[in-house]
Amino acid sequence: MEDSFLGFDEKNWLNLRKDLKKIVGDTAYNNWLKQLTFLSVKDQTISFSVPTKFLRDWVVNNYADKIKNQCKNYIKNIEAIKFVVKPVGGRVVPGTARTIKNTDNQWKRSLDIRSNQSPSSNEFGAPLDPRFTFDNFVVGKPNELAFAASQRVAESEDVTFNPLFLYGGVGLGKTHLMHAIGWKIKEKSPDRKVIYLSAEKFMYQFVRALRYKDTSAFKEQFRSIDILMIDDVQFISGKDNTQEEFFHTFNALIEQNRQIVISADKSPSDLDGVQERLKSRLGCGLVADIHPTTYELRLGILIEKAQKRGVEIPSKVLEFLSYRIVSNVREMEGALNRLVAHATLVGTSITVETAQVVLQDLLKSNNRKITIEEIQKKVAEHFNIRLTDMHSPRRSRSVARPRQIAMYLAKSITSRSLPEIGRKFGGRDHTTVMHAVKKIEELKQEDNNFNEDIELLKRLIDS
Ligand code: ADP
Ligand code: MG
Repeated sequence: MEDSFLGFDEKNWLNLRKDLKKIVGDTAYNNWLKQLTFLSVKDQTISFSVPTKFLRDWVVNNYADKIKNQCKNYIKNIEAIKFVVKPVGGRVVPGTARTIKNTDNQWKRSLDIRSNQSPSSNEFGAPLDPRFTFDNFVVGKPNELAFAASQRVAESEDVTFNPLFLYGGVGLGKTHLMHAIGWKIKEKSPDRKVIYLSAEKFMYQFVRALRYKDTSAFKEQFRSIDILMIDDVQFISGKDNTQEEFFHTFNALIEQNRQIVISADKSPSDLDGVQERLKSRLGCGLVADIHPTTYELRLGILIEKAQKRGVEIPSKVLEFLSYRIVSNVREMEGALNRLVAHATLVGTSITVETAQVVLQDLLKSNNRKITIEEIQKKVAEHFNIRLTDMHSPRRSRSVARPRQIAMYLAKSITSRSLPEIGRKFGGRDHTTVMHAVKKIEELKQEDNNFNEDIELLKRLIDS
């Protein structure tokens, strides 16, 4: 100890520790405060060290005030208390100081959020979302392989394919399936240790371990894992150190016959900035892709979600949403929530019209995908007429009806105005378009076959 301790000495420190032990109890003391080491008193600041950053945050968050108050019993004019990280047998790690001043609550509060999880819960993995179970997952053509493979991994006692690699676009259910695997395993065999985390978090933990020269502890965390799931591995592309570590962890676990589940937005071979050997390693188990949703799947998901929320939503509205929100399931769920919230707040019933108003922005951004030209092309193909007939002045029924259908579809699928649609159909007047829309709506009402034909076309255009 240095000499500028304002009278605070070894004996005081011993007494201070005894006081703290009395205040917080033996268990908490042994868990958290025992590893506290007194460093110095300088400029009315008393400094302590702890061996890890995690411990520092925990102590700061939960015990700083108690420690400070006790210190005041020994050093009257104490203004601040400082904690630095100093691994056992190592030096103080630069940049790890956390200082709490007498008047300073703000910084402490910012830490509360992070340190609030119980330290005994596995710090390494992330918690599983209770909504993401197999029961809540709607299966359709686009995701049936991924679903079946995930179930297999969760149900079977031995490792059949390793790793299971799930890939697909944003919001198509990758994370949902991984959590579902986790829940199922926990339910079936509570003793098996399941770790789920994002590749980002994996990277963060690894970088942190590197910084505190604690990579052995990092590796240790994996030793006892039965199933490791890492979400969104595209995040480690280009991060060479992390890839290296990931690769080793991966190999070690595979060699010990532990199950690994990986997700990404691309197939292993398409992952840019990932080392070749890691790519081939990732692809050596089962690679299951999730395709973009179809109309049927979207409708199925919406029906399920509406049921779960216990709200009555007209099937017309659900169909409308399934047609119009094609980007991903997350967005569709968001749309449903907004509709329900709006209806509850305003006290109106949910109709296609309110959906159009409430979800204007969402519908717009989903619109860009389908153009009037595409509609014209699909309709022309369907009725076996020439594309140019969409713009031609010909009025024979064999081309006029398909043209009207294309106009109707343009109106119901895109957000183009009547005059805009008219222009795309050989410069026709908006009243012509309006007439076409009315006519087709009538026919749909009258003739079920016709109605089904139109629905089929909608789906064709949509896919
Ligand atoms: P990803 O990880 O692929 O980006 P998520 O798993 O986070 O997508 O899914 C986004 C949202 O959509 C979640 O709320 C999820 O529950 C829901 N979801 C996606 N696919 C389905 C499905 N087939 N059945 C039910 N819900 C789904
Ligand atoms: Mg995800």
